[in-house]
Amino acid sequence: MSAPTTHTHHTGGCQCGAIRYRVEGGLGDASVCHCRMCQKASGGFYMPLVSLGTARLTWTRGHIRHFQSSNAARRGFCGDCGTPLTYEAPDGVALAIGTFDDPGDLKPGIQWGVEAKLPYVDEVPALPQQETSADEGAAAFLATLVSYQHPDHDTDDWTPKIEEAREHWRPKEQGV
Ligand SMILES: [Zn+2]
Ligand SMILES: [Zn+2]
Repeated sequence: MSAPTTHTHHTGGCQCGAIRYRVEGGLGDASVCHCRMCQKASGGFYMPLVSLGTARLTWTRGHIRHFQSSNAARRGFCGDCGTPLTYEAPDGVALAIGTFDDPGDLKPGIQWGVEAKLPYVDEVPALPQQETSADEGAAAFLATLVSYQHPDHDTDDWTPKIEEAREHWRPKEQGV
């Protein structure tokens, strides 16, 4: 079991900034889950979650949407950008660790669902490591890059750049 975190409050939200939350009080256990549902819901190799424990969760901006992933649980996400935010089951709610403004504090203490663990996932930490700037071919791209991701703190005013980004990345017409 992982030790409860010591911070009395945390903030977080989705990538586009349409959804923000605040958690006050002691969070429960942090974990990763390798089950196939968590792979799908996160788009990742596994899903990092921290249970609310005795903490109180307040949605401070926007309204999350839900997918009922089974008769027992539903998963909350941002309807604008798709960021996974919650796992909600009868025994409580858990938040996706990567959506916290300070995820470095939320160290997982256990792995669940290991029967579905992807065959290469344990090899990832041993892979060669490079910083983003080491990709010389991307230097020009990185020099002009403007992030539309919400910053890792609460903001008074924020307009998600959903439409703007969609225009920017629209593929060229392929002809008919
Ligand atoms: Zn969003
Ligand atoms: Zn799972």
